Amino acid sequence: MPALKLVAPIPCERHADRAGYGRCRRCDRVLCGACSSFLEQVLTCPACVRALAQEEDAVLFAAGDTPHAYGLALALGVCGTIVALYAMTLVHA
Ligand SMILES: [Zn+2]
Ligand SMILES: [Zn+2]
Repeated sequence: MPALKLVAPIPCERHADRAGYGRCRRCDRVLCGACSSFLEQVLTCPACVRALAQEEDAVLFAAGDTPHAYGLALALGVCGTIVALYAMTLVHA
């Protein structure tokens, strides 16, 4: 019967004397209660809360500014695939 492996408590990355409360969902940093923030009920460090808010703003701005941004990204992806396939044929030729 395998022994239950207990994971030693990892201290907060900013407060070495405090036990880690959880990990940030984005940067995987260990956070104590004082360092923890919640974004949509998911543990997130304050720096990532700010970063995510900025990313969301950027996405909203891009979507409002260029409605075909997604289509463009898709087209670029298809072009990239064609270029990759072409490069492969060159390698095999
Ligand atoms: Zn984080
Ligand atoms: Zn902390």
